[in-house]
Amino acid sequence: MHDVLIIGAGVIGSGIARELARFALDIVVLEKGSDVASGASKANSGIVHAGYDAHPGSLKARYNVMGNPLFDALSAELDFPFRRTGSLVLAFSPEETAELDALARRGRDNGVPGLAVIGRDAVREREPNIGPEVHAALLAPSGGIVCPYEMTIALAENAAANGVRFFRNHTVDTVDLIPGGFRAATAGGVFEAKLLVNAAGIHADAVNNMLSRRTLTIQPRRGEYLLLDRRAGGLVRHTLFQLPGPTGKGVLLTPTVDGNLLLGPTSEEEPDKDNTETTREGLAYVRRLVRRDVASLPDDAVIASFAGLRARETARGDFTVGPCPDVPGLINVAGIESPGLSSAPAIAREVAAMVADALRPQPNRRFAPERRAAPRFRHMSREERREAVRRDADYGRVVCRCEHVTRAEVLAALRGPLPARDMDGVKRRTRAGMGRCQGGFCGMRLPEIIAGETGVPLTEVTKRGGGSRLLLTENASARREE
Ligand SMILES: Cc1cc2nc3c(=O)[nH]c(=O)nc-3n(C[C@H](O)[C@H](O)[C@H](O)COP(=O)(O)OP(=O)(O)OC[C@H]3O[C@@H](n4cnc5c(N)ncnc54)[C@H](O)[C@@H]3O)c2cc1C
Repeated sequence: MHDVLIIGAGVIGSGIARELARFALDIVVLEKGSDVASGASKANSGIVHAGYDAHPGSLKARYNVMGNPLFDALSAELDFPFRRTGSLVLAFSPEETAELDALARRGRDNGVPGLAVIGRDAVREREPNIGPEVHAALLAPSGGIVCPYEMTIALAENAAANGVRFFRNHTVDTVDLIPGGFRAATAGGVFEAKLLVNAAGIHADAVNNMLSRRTLTIQPRRGEYLLLDRRAGGLVRHTLFQLPGPTGKGVLLTPTVDGNLLLGPTSEEEPDKDNTETTREGLAYVRRLVRRDVASLPDDAVIASFAGLRARETARGDFTVGPCPDVPGLINVAGIESPGLSSAPAIAREVAAMVADALRPQPNRRFAPERRAAPRFRHMSREERREAVRRDADYGRVVCRCEHVTRAEVLAALRGPLPARDMDGVKRRTRAGMGRCQGGFCGMRLPEIIAGETGVPLTEVTKRGGGSRLLLTENASARREE
């Protein structure tokens, strides 16, 4: 029997796994996706919120404000991209400016540092491209931006390097109580553990409801985005919000850590937990709203659109974090919608403390907190590039022209502590396919490298596991020409 079983390898499950790796515990993570960061943790705004939005006294406010300051040290320790850019909530009229004051008061109640309402000129000084209608803004200097899937991969890789075992492509179909713990059944095997951490995102209700009479209901809200090319990335410096509404923080415009510009999200109730499609209406709505922030947004700079599902718990609308009252040993981390990413480091610490309280483990004396990402060719100076190619000729073979990703980086992604096994896994570890041409150039080179490295036939290489094969058959004449 394992000590701890975690269901779900998003930023929450992976973060908890990494914190628990500090103890001498036998920990298993089961993830239904073909990789970590398969759910909301791969498709969100990537904002480390300051914490003024959530209601004082809520778990959202508490974990957000606790989590935000942890990002500097965590990103340095685990080598994932994070920048403290600051954020601005824009007001477009005197009435809206009064709402900023209320938001600032709420933020101060939550313990958010440095909040200030600034006038039009001060906004323009910070953001020269701001639209003419802007009247004032709430400045939150502690707001930041992060790459959510790189953060999740970094947490999971560090957990794996410290002994946590991840089983990807393992959907938990049933969970039962057994003497001394729990039994989770997957098509790939049965796993038993003393404690169960439910971090299953939009499916955390299903996991809880298999064990507890205190049922949870999670009703997803879909958020659609547009991603703009790097040439538009310099148009703004801060994350620009509009005033929050009843269904969320409103539509935002933000630079990304990779130099792109992100627009969105919408907020629509979505009955289908598998539906992450974007819609013409949703994307048009996003475009229309952000034009008020910055009028000069180029129409032809869109390179991608995507959607993510928020895990909204219907009864309380707050996070559920802690032991389930009627199922000893079950720790629920459910309803983790926004600001879940910002809260993840704080939630991970507290849940690890709950587990430690229950199991009284010894410390893991071999725990190594640091993790380094594979060196990125595009971040190297000319001299560093020359040296990299001298050491490894694969640094001289560019696979993705838009993002300057080399064959050496793709191979590193396929050989890491939690190796990528499909196109999306390579993409999220290297950025191959994330540039202007969206995989038009590297789309065929990557499967060949994946097939060569993993030993699977080219026709079995997938986009994201399961049935998402890229090729139906190999062209015999093309093979002969090789
Ligand atoms: C549109 C949108 C915008 C957002 N913007 C922000 C933001 O800017 N800042 C912020 O702080 N937060 C933001 N959030 C919230 C943030 O993304 C989430 O709080 C966070 O990613 C939740 O992480 P998680 O690990 O709980 O969930 P997920 O990342 O969804 O992980 C849950 C995992 O569990 C797995 N799973 C589910 N069922 C099973 C099963 N039966 N067996 C095995 N595995 C299973 C899933 O495959 C998934 O990988 C946003 C969310 C959305 C959707």
